Amino acid sequence: MLRFTALDYACNRNPVLANIPEMKISDYFGELTFNDTAQREYLTKEAYDQVVNAIEHGHCISRQVADQIASSMKAWATNKGATHYTHWFHPLTGATAEKHDAFINPLAGGRAIEGFRGNELMQQEPDASSFPSGGIRNTFEARGYTAWDPTSPAFILDKTLCIPTIFVSYTGEALDFKTPLLKALNTIDKAATDICHYFDKDVKSVSVTLGWEQEYFLLDKALYNARPDILLTRRTLFGHASAKDQQLSDHYFGTIPQRVMEFMKEFEFECHKLGIPIKTRHNEVAPSQFECAPVFEEANLAVDHNQLLMHIIKRIAGKHNFYALLHEKPYAGVNGSGKHNNWSLATNTGINLLSPGKDSKSNLRFLTFLINILKGVHDYSDLIRAAIASAGNDHRLGAHEAPPAIISVFIGTELTRALRELENQGINTIEDGRGLDLNVPKIPEILLDNTDRNRTSPFAFTGNKFEFRAVGSSSTCSKAMTPLNLILATQLKKFKKEVDALTAKNYKTEDAILQILRGYVEESSAILFEGNSYSEEWLVEAEKRGLPNIKSTPQALVNAMNEKVIALYEDEKILTRRELLARHDIKMKKYTMQIQIESRVMGDLATNHIIPVAIKYQSVLMDNVKGLKEVLDNKTFVKLSKNQLQSIKDISGHISEIRENVIRMIEDRKIANKIEDAQEQAICYNEKVFPFLAHIRYHVDKLELLVDDSLWPLPKYREMLFIR
Ligand code: ADP
Ligand code: MG
Repeated sequence: MLRFTALDYACNRNPVLANIPEMKISDYFGELTFNDTAQREYLTKEAYDQVVNAIEHGHCISRQVADQIASSMKAWATNKGATHYTHWFHPLTGATAEKHDAFINPLAGGRAIEGFRGNELMQQEPDASSFPSGGIRNTFEARGYTAWDPTSPAFILDKTLCIPTIFVSYTGEALDFKTPLLKALNTIDKAATDICHYFDKDVKSVSVTLGWEQEYFLLDKALYNARPDILLTRRTLFGHASAKDQQLSDHYFGTIPQRVMEFMKEFEFECHKLGIPIKTRHNEVAPSQFECAPVFEEANLAVDHNQLLMHIIKRIAGKHNFYALLHEKPYAGVNGSGKHNNWSLATNTGINLLSPGKDSKSNLRFLTFLINILKGVHDYSDLIRAAIASAGNDHRLGAHEAPPAIISVFIGTELTRALRELENQGINTIEDGRGLDLNVPKIPEILLDNTDRNRTSPFAFTGNKFEFRAVGSSSTCSKAMTPLNLILATQLKKFKKEVDALTAKNYKTEDAILQILRGYVEESSAILFEGNSYSEEWLVEAEKRGLPNIKSTPQALVNAMNEKVIALYEDEKILTRRELLARHDIKMKKYTMQIQIESRVMGDLATNHIIPVAIKYQSVLMDNVKGLKEVLDNKTFVKLSKNQLQSIKDISGHISEIRENVIRMIEDRKIANKIEDAQEQAICYNEKVFPFLAHIRYHVDKLELLVDDSLWPLPKYREMLFIR
């Protein structure tokens, strides 16, 4: 049986030693990226200046210089052994895409030379008609273009020069995650810089910083191959809990198992060569769950690096006979995996705008950004909830030590006190220009080290940044980063208008700022929560406060598809209504397809793998009972066969429940499949089909406890979680 062959393999593995040169990390860090050092070495002065200008100020690169850059990049890449190049982009599937071309130009006489021209660098037209576009492109006008993003350095992966690009349709609509992200980052740059000018005229630009933390599970490759559910859906659709899993917290921060250690060394080595600044690694709470985190970077680069990291984790895991599970909830009943997005803003002058300052002026700046974030999150919490919605994350949010689906913000007791102080200072009504003394609440300097470590909040202030914890482990960070930065940009613009309206009435700037902030604190107070977000009391309290607790992806998406959100995107020219509707459709279809696949896999496995085995074992029991009856006197027989007869009945009961529910699930699937509207269909899948997954699972997991272990076809939880 596949299960036992797989167990044989898994139990007899030796660590695959990582082959890493004896060098300092700094000796090879970034050597596979066309980074600043490589650019200085390979580019002409003119080309280098244009690239820097493009990165720093968004200036265009001329055709002629593009040719120079392309030829230098090719020289650099071929020196490093690259033979191909590709535009590397983030289509709406959520993965990354690449289509490789060789650096080859045929010459007369059957020879060839390496070539790479400016237009090949700047723009490509992959025949990308199969990527989701939500109806924006019809296949007959399938043209989609990729265009170079010079702010994220090109890199070499598998002897291929990868050029980060955006992906847009012939008609200019965004077909990817990068385009709106870049636009949102540009918008926040302007909006935040304007606000900085209240405090410091020297600030020229503000960039967004992102430090993600990536959680994942490792599963032995053989066991992975023996679980059709994981193979096809990335999660276990069945599996009774292991008697021991994470109760003792003995895995968390424990010694990293040796096979895993070798894997980590190698994947970190690959990451470092690609300039991904991985710094931290440790065991996570669930058995076989791990985490890695880099030093934070500018957000667009950090997003690219996370996409690349997910790819590398999977690839290197394979070399070490593991399968890396990035799904949010591969196993029921133990912790799921998230991708905390640590988020802040930094000025070109080197100031972290979410760092409390030393004097009242810098504290006012800090409070300005902090409170505007609270207000933005409060006003657009439906959009933030939708940003983290996915079929996988639905299992995680609100379950087993994951943030709940209720969006709230934790800021810690010290800041809560400071906000209350600010609020209670009373409203300044002086309009004659005299103003009040600058009365900024004191923020203790120790805040950074001292911020309460509330681990239960979906959105927590952690000393000098916000940590958005509800993001799912398989998601691209841009799904969270685009709306968050857009929301804050819009909020900051609104704030500026209100402040300027007061200063026009002769308020001192500081007074105007304080006055507006006071109002914001009051208006967003419902979203502040300092307690345990995992508790029952919070569910009750949140409901009292009118905070929505949206459990399903389709519902979260529906809630966020409103005129206010559309206006938010349209006003800042991030995405048009048409683009938003297209994306909405794509997400709904994706949800439907995922539940459809899970439901099909479950139906097949239950019918073809589980029921036959249960029947077989039931026959064994029945034969045994018959045998007992032959050899025992009636009184003894009745006494001794009681439990076995009960087992036979129990097994029958579960089999019949499984059969019945599978049939009903298929019927409901047929109804759902006929629905044409993507949103209605996803809602129907969520309401009608999805609940069967839990019903059927319940009975299969019960059977797992009843049936002879030697007959059970699927690797069990204890085997998958503990053999490594
Ligand atoms: P945790 O206690 O949640 O594990 P850490 O203090 O280890 O958090 O930091 C987690 C992440 O936060 C790291 O990736 C780090 O680079 C990032 N981080 C730190 N400062 C900032 C910042 N100013 N902006 C964005 N991310 C940051
Ligand atoms: Mg964290």
